[in-house]
Amino acid sequence: MERVVIVGGGVSGLALAFWLQRLASEAGRPLRVTVLEAEETPGGKMRTEREGPYRVEWGPNGFLDSKVHAVRLVEALGMGSQVLQASLRSRTRYITRHGRPVPVPESPLAFLRSPLISVSGKIRLLGEPFAPPAPPNRDETVAEFVRRRIGPEALAWLIDPMVSGVFAGDPEALSLAAVFPRMVELERDHGGLFRALWHLGREKRRSRRNPAAGGMGQPTGVLTSFREGSQSLVETLAGSLAPGTLICGARVQQVHRSLGGSVVEFRDAQGSIRWLPADRVVLACPSYEAARMIRREMSDLAMLLDQIPYAPISVVGTAFEARALQGSPRGFGVLHPRVEGRGSLGTLYDSLVFENRAPEGQVLLRTMVGGARDPVGAMLPDEALLDRVLRDLREVLGVRGDPVRVWIFRHDRGIPQYLRGHPGLLRQVDLRVARWPGLHLCSNAYRGIALGDCCREAETLARQVVPSDPGPRDPPA
Ligand SMILES: Cc1cc2nc3c(=O)[nH]c(=O)nc-3n(C[C@H](O)[C@H](O)[C@H](O)COP(=O)(O)OP(=O)(O)OC[C@H]3O[C@@H](n4cnc5c(N)ncnc54)[C@H](O)[C@@H]3O)c2cc1C
Repeated sequence: MERVVIVGGGVSGLALAFWLQRLASEAGRPLRVTVLEAEETPGGKMRTEREGPYRVEWGPNGFLDSKVHAVRLVEALGMGSQVLQASLRSRTRYITRHGRPVPVPESPLAFLRSPLISVSGKIRLLGEPFAPPAPPNRDETVAEFVRRRIGPEALAWLIDPMVSGVFAGDPEALSLAAVFPRMVELERDHGGLFRALWHLGREKRRSRRNPAAGGMGQPTGVLTSFREGSQSLVETLAGSLAPGTLICGARVQQVHRSLGGSVVEFRDAQGSIRWLPADRVVLACPSYEAARMIRREMSDLAMLLDQIPYAPISVVGTAFEARALQGSPRGFGVLHPRVEGRGSLGTLYDSLVFENRAPEGQVLLRTMVGGARDPVGAMLPDEALLDRVLRDLREVLGVRGDPVRVWIFRHDRGIPQYLRGHPGLLRQVDLRVARWPGLHLCSNAYRGIALGDCCREAETLARQVVPSDPGPRDPPA
């Protein structure tokens, strides 16, 4: 019987275990899968604080329903009745300009009228079809690409807040090809973004059918979660695995190479060191942990994995009486561009996006602090952190009074940063991984930081290990 050991029981490791067992059982192939998770409960970054009527997310608040691998996983798990889609009330997104939240324009006309960008900035943006082509053989940063194609103002007021809100990252440092591979494709295939939009009109028409999805300034797809929060996904995944598959409290120390495979050395919940032989080992943990585990066997691979930094981020949940927000803008949330010099990255209106996140008559907000450009901010003591958050809520959103309840969740190494050179780094990583028979990497450190990416990578690897019919692919974002 082939033995697969998965190190890490976050959504990547659990989804991989689920698909491996599902595919192996369909193919009638004997496969023993073990997931070793360091913590007492599985799920990694996906955790929901369920406190009375509150549902407060530690990390992700959902996935886009345009991500077919995430949707297929949810369907395969039979979770349809638990699914919750973002409410139409939360459609509008805001960006702060001169201390005030300004709606992100959703149509060309709204864009022309929007105060978000000056007239000269709009003229520069509309000159996109005449932008110089991409420099050959250069992994451009997000900022370089945006400045070249749509100008510095669009970078400062549109792209910068989006990049820090989603990736907790610095657009001057992140690799365009790694974080927005679709942009590279569109420019390459169509010669520019406006031309690409023109050609992709058919997709636009399709998204118009669903009023909650797509449109200018909107992501493709509807944000989707679960009634009891995103943790439901990892709970259902863990519950679906064959008995004995998941071992919690098992911290992997090292992975050793052995004849034809590997041996995984871990400390169990009782503190004893144990060894588990495996034909395949999948490191579904953060890259810095993977590096530590294989350093003795393959120091060059460990050095490469160490080059993927993580940005710290703190999530501050605040519940207010609804009257505290009377007159303040309603929507999905607000993001602060760096040039605004605010103390936080932005705030999500969680209880407007998803019903049942807060009791009747209250509003639940979640504010992010820190990221790659403000690591010190993420580490502030609780009181100073809350001060920063409340200042932004009061000054930008006009929130009055004090919160009735506060939660602080800290991610010291929260979101992996795909820096310039990341695609080349991955090529080097792949070459070395291929020299270790049966070794695989599968987490959000490599080919997409989001939940949907984890689902895609997990399913793809499972289908590689247990080949069957390939499933449909994600449509272009
Ligand atoms: C604040 C925040 C907000 C986010 N918001 C969104 C969002 O809205 N939408 C979205 O799509 N994505 C979002 N994400 C990203 C999303 O959370 C991740 O893509 C996803 O959870 C990563 O899952 P993973 O399994 O790859 O890694 P992790 O969740 O990090 O899981 C890795 C697992 O490995 C375990 N582990 C580590 N070391 C060892 C060891 N030595 N031995 C055994 N086990 C070990 C850990 O305990 C952990 O359980 C957010 C992330 C953060 C931090």
